[in-house]
Amino acid sequence: MSILLKNGTYIHPETLKFTTSDILVHEGIIGKIEFVSQVPESKFEQVIDCTGKYITQSFVCGHHHVYSALSRGMGAPKKNPENFNEVLQYVWWTLDKCMDVEMIEASALYTAMASLKNGVTFVIDHHASPFAIGGSLDIIATAFEKVGASHLLCYEISDRDGTEKALEGLVETAEFLEDNQALVGLHASFTVSDDTLQKAVRLSKHYDTGIHIHVAEAESDQQHCMDTYGMRVIERLQKFEALKSSRTILGHCLHLSEKEKKIISKSPAWVVQNTESNLNNKVGYFNAAGLGSNIMMGTDGMHSDMLRSAKAAFFVGQNFDTIGYDSVYQRFRNADKYLTSNGFKGHGPNNLVVLDYDTPTPFNQGNFYGHFVFGLESKHVKHVISQGKLVVENGKIITVDEDKILASVKVQAERLWAKMR
Ligand SMILES: [Zn+2]
Repeated sequence: MSILLKNGTYIHPETLKFTTSDILVHEGIIGKIEFVSQVPESKFEQVIDCTGKYITQSFVCGHHHVYSALSRGMGAPKKNPENFNEVLQYVWWTLDKCMDVEMIEASALYTAMASLKNGVTFVIDHHASPFAIGGSLDIIATAFEKVGASHLLCYEISDRDGTEKALEGLVETAEFLEDNQALVGLHASFTVSDDTLQKAVRLSKHYDTGIHIHVAEAESDQQHCMDTYGMRVIERLQKFEALKSSRTILGHCLHLSEKEKKIISKSPAWVVQNTESNLNNKVGYFNAAGLGSNIMMGTDGMHSDMLRSAKAAFFVGQNFDTIGYDSVYQRFRNADKYLTSNGFKGHGPNNLVVLDYDTPTPFNQGNFYGHFVFGLESKHVKHVISQGKLVVENGKIITVDEDKILASVKVQAERLWAKMR
């Protein structure tokens, strides 16, 4: 089936060229779009009037955590965390240990709906549920596909709960990779033994994919690596050949030496920055200097709004980063490059947002960046097309019963919070 978008203004995601035309959108995981004129509307089941609206490629979240979806508004942890390791211990590792299959499904359904409503049609996720590992990635994939979002998933393999859990994570990853595009997830250097790291890299090579790992999010990750292995985190990852794939994603990368930055910039691996999460955890500020150009953006599970993430990166970065008007957009769009250059499917040209953007000033190719930083927000996302299929219409999810799902997700949130007490 195809959709006809009538009389909208298409903004090319790379060249930023504005073209006012009718657009024919073809459905499919590798689908295309065509600029057409005077095509009879009666030939199409779906015709959307886009007069006065802007159309561009939809967005990608480069680093998300489905498991954090039910945390909003939950009670305070048993101990007020005094540092990043205590945040993990008393908040996230308490929460993820309570996740069961119903909660995972609810978290995934909500994350997919929230993402799509923000114009994010593709999510790169990093999942953990230590007492519901087997089958967890399938549950997330099924929920995402039901709502209409594309995905690149991984399970966060770790020795933090013992070697048996690490092995379970490896098995889950291998089973999922048999039938799906995915990455091999690792939590972080400080919770991954040499044996597990070696097995994870071996697995990634076997399936010709990359590693997805948190790197030097806090200084303590480096301290642990120096104390335990006598080297820094990136040196350790390099030693185990974890940086050789262009599919590899390194999350955060806040506390790196010049030598480590050089290793990353010379490798094909990608860095993903998560500004708001770093602010929330008080772990430091991202700075792209010396890291090369393979940098994209994520939310780290804080929310599913990439336009918001880009703005946060830009404004916080004015004091701490090399980020500017063109580079904030570049980093925002780099996930497109990461996905397409690595051959991942689900983010072709037939993934689109229709923006109802009421600007008081001229908007064109020449001043796009100013509007991107100061104007465009997710509230402007009116319709969303994922793999050529209309999934959000007038701001509402149309693939599933959004209200009914939200009500059932709340039941799972209450179950989770009760279990955590
Ligand atoms: Zn993360």
